[in-house]
Amino acid sequence: MQKCQNYINGHWMDSSSGEVIEVNDPATGKIIGQVSCAKEEEVNMAVDAALKAHNSRVLVDMPPMERAKLMRTIANELRNVANEGGDVLCRENGKPLPNAIFEFMDAANYFDYYSGLTDKLEGSTIPVNNTVIDYTLLEPYGVSAHIVPWNFPMSMLARSLACAFAAGNATVIKTAELTPLATASHFAKAISNANVPAGLINIICGYGNEAGSILTAHKDVSQITFTGSVLTGKKILHAAAERAIPAVVELGGKSAAVVFPDADLDKVVNAAKGGIFGQAGQICSAMSRVVVHKSIKDELVERLANMAKGLKVGAGYEEGAELTPLISEQQLQKVENYARSGQQAGATLAVGGNRIDREGYFFEATVFDNVKPDMTIAQEEIFGPVLSVLTYEDEAEAIHIANDTAFGLAAGVFTKDINQATNAVNQLQAGQVYVNSWFTGSIATPFGGYKQSGYSREKGQEAIKGYLQVKNVGIQL
Ligand code: NAD
Repeated sequence: MQKCQNYINGHWMDSSSGEVIEVNDPATGKIIGQVSCAKEEEVNMAVDAALKAHNSRVLVDMPPMERAKLMRTIANELRNVANEGGDVLCRENGKPLPNAIFEFMDAANYFDYYSGLTDKLEGSTIPVNNTVIDYTLLEPYGVSAHIVPWNFPMSMLARSLACAFAAGNATVIKTAELTPLATASHFAKAISNANVPAGLINIICGYGNEAGSILTAHKDVSQITFTGSVLTGKKILHAAAERAIPAVVELGGKSAAVVFPDADLDKVVNAAKGGIFGQAGQICSAMSRVVVHKSIKDELVERLANMAKGLKVGAGYEEGAELTPLISEQQLQKVENYARSGQQAGATLAVGGNRIDREGYFFEATVFDNVKPDMTIAQEEIFGPVLSVLTYEDEAEAIHIANDTAFGLAAGVFTKDINQATNAVNQLQAGQVYVNSWFTGSIATPFGGYKQSGYSREKGQEAIKGYLQVKNVGIQL
């Protein structure tokens, strides 16, 4: 059984309260590890360590090339622990082992990518008059707090951390209570092995409504990045507003793929396989709705159902597992309730709809036919392997249905007609739109939400602005 501690000021330490958080394997429900549960004392220690590290200017004054080199060292250390750390992540999260190992590689790639920006944080000179020299400096905020969800613990963490670090901020990370092990063990080990100066990166494990809210309310935190649900995101924004500090928020989604009559249905089915059944649908930008022209609906539903039936069910560490478990019993019940609500509202099950009779938190790959736009299963984020199929008669109706939720994270368009595609892209209200595919992005492409899916952007060069403030300097000659 794995036991992990908080990583504060370059040292591993237990919480003074002695309290622990137990972590289970979602494929069996059995306890596989525990972390020391950070309380107010540990949050304060972590923020103090970050503030001292920031005020020492060890990172701020580090020459850009040195900062870049340090980030590339972190990237290499993350690659060194990827296999072992991926195994831990697979067991605590339930995701397929190759995906879990990839998350460490992805984290490494974030550090490599943002290392390339450290010497490109350029200000500008501004003409005022011939007796004044005016220029701008881009400076870090100071202590940047990162609150991470359980579905992609490593990728989401590195996405914001590498960017904040490249900008020169000191950081405090709060792991998700359901998946703290890989971060507190192998991620922290990589940071330590890379000889990151003490206090620049601190990792605490605690509950959201305790350590999380204490962290976001802390007087010495100058910027917050939150990735998680809309509900919690709103609390984070309140906490940030209370002290008038900036926050980057990346929230949930209910993303729709619009399928035109000329679409290649193999591409739609393939996109749905990863887009809604990958990681059991626990993906913020999951393809959770298909809005298809009524003339091809029956054929598409049949193909989707056949694909769903053929998925190999198993724990992430079982070879070839495609449909892995949900994260917890609570999440399983939530998904089950949504499935019942869909049936009660009059949607019909093309396939699935029930929990799977085995240990752990498995739910069948589910396709709902005859879904109407106002049904709960068409409006709310289920965060499970449940796809809702809706139909339309003309393009205007398709776009209306796709946009008609409170979210705006991702959207898709399937057609062979480029004019049709770009026309739809222009009208869809989403931070990313995929054409004839799903999840086409990379670290270099900006990612974020419209409407209640959040604001600010992560990934790409765009994201660094979220971790820098502009200082204008005027010199009177
Ligand atoms: P969640 O909101 O329950 O928790 C996210 C994190 O916030 C956890 O670390 C939790 O401990 C912490 N937290 C909870 N209450 C808090 C509080 N009052 N103050 C401070 N921190 C608090 O979300 P989750 O269930 O872990 O993640 C799933 C959600 O995340 C889904 O809605 C999904 O769409 C979203 N998500 C979004 C993105 C994106 O990039 N847009 C990426 C991944 C996940």
